[in-house]
Amino acid sequence: MTLRAIIIGGGLAGGAAAARLAQLGQPPLLLEREAGAHDKICGEFLSVEAGRHLAGLGVDVARLGGARIDRVRLHAGRLTAEARLPFVATGVTRRALDALLLDHAAAAGADVQRGTSVRHLAGNRAVTSAGDTDPGPILLATGKHDLRGEARDPRGTIPGLIGFKQFFRATPALTARLAGAVEVTAFAGGYAGLQCVEAGRLNLCLLVDQARYKALGGSWPLLLAALLREPGLALLADAEPLLAKPLAIASVPYGYLATPGAGPYRLGDQAAVIPSFCGDGMAMALHGGRLAADMLASGADAATFQTRLRRDVARQVRLATRLQRVATHGLGRFALVAGLAAVPAALAALARWTRVEPQALARLGV
Ligand SMILES: Cc1cc2nc3c(=O)[nH]c(=O)nc-3n(C[C@H](O)[C@H](O)[C@H](O)COP(=O)(O)OP(=O)(O)OC[C@H]3O[C@@H](n4cnc5c(N)ncnc54)[C@H](O)[C@@H]3O)c2cc1C
Repeated sequence: MTLRAIIIGGGLAGGAAAARLAQLGQPPLLLEREAGAHDKICGEFLSVEAGRHLAGLGVDVARLGGARIDRVRLHAGRLTAEARLPFVATGVTRRALDALLLDHAAAAGADVQRGTSVRHLAGNRAVTSAGDTDPGPILLATGKHDLRGEARDPRGTIPGLIGFKQFFRATPALTARLAGAVEVTAFAGGYAGLQCVEAGRLNLCLLVDQARYKALGGSWPLLLAALLREPGLALLADAEPLLAKPLAIASVPYGYLATPGAGPYRLGDQAAVIPSFCGDGMAMALHGGRLAADMLASGADAATFQTRLRRDVARQVRLATRLQRVATHGLGRFALVAGLAAVPAALAALARWTRVEPQALARLGV
């Protein structure tokens, strides 16, 4: 008898695994601690690979009315580099997207239990706020949050980065400038992404080194004031913030790659954390979710799955992590943006090299 899989976390990785397992005739149990749709720290740049994965699961992202993005612009001080992306991406909120995917998984037959928090694992059972589950293969998809006893190994990752996200109401000037573009501003100790999402909103999502944050006064208003002095972000001063306070997260382990071994199937940010400026974390989460479902359904163990997923994403994670170190330290950001301004084709190439490859998608029939 096949035991029912238990998926912990209803983000994109967990949602994709749940939808796919249900479609393969093995509907899982999915436990998500949030009771309803919620905002998440994310730049909300949905790449073409992520779009293909969602379409492959039968999710109609177009109905969310996201923003079309086909260009990237980089700023460092007064330097700017711009290139056409080698694909079309979408700006869409995680609040809407994750809820759509979870509803889709439930409609396909997955038992989606929202508002249930998993405390820890006990062998192949999950100990939850509502009691213990039956035994079954565990798929760990808790994203940025580590489960007690299952923490990710931070060795080799970039330490000390804090993430923030705030929505702004788009002004006419920003709407015109950002039409079709995602902008990344590199500043001392971090970088910020700015783009349109649905319903006339702008997403500002950024990472800043803890030491730099402290030096700026250690508060969001002081950090924002410093960011507004950056030429690439100055226009935001006229835009109204929409969240009462920004979402924040500390210690994002950029560069993390799970080591294959016994234990749960690790998906999404529990398997690999790629620097955010690449905008492919969501694709990697969806990729891992689908791959885990396919391999679990065909009887593969967790170590075999983890080895295979690592093969699909490790090179991209390592390259992006090296670039992030250059862009956030010293004067590397100016050299990087000046170089990319001189050779815009290199910017498009970097965008390609830091993504899940088309061949990896094709191997999954996506
Ligand atoms: C600052 C920043 C900007 C980013 N920008 C982009 C971008 O523009 N484009 C892009 O593609 N990627 C981006 N990413 C990466 C992307 O957000 C992640 O890679 C992606 O969300 C990973 O999906 P996931 O399903 O693994 O985790 P998540 O989306 O974090 O989902 C995990 C889920 O698990 C639930 N959960 C956690 N703990 C428990 C528990 N104990 N019990 C039950 N449920 C639990 C949470 O509530 C959550 O819903 C960004 C990341 C950061 C930090």
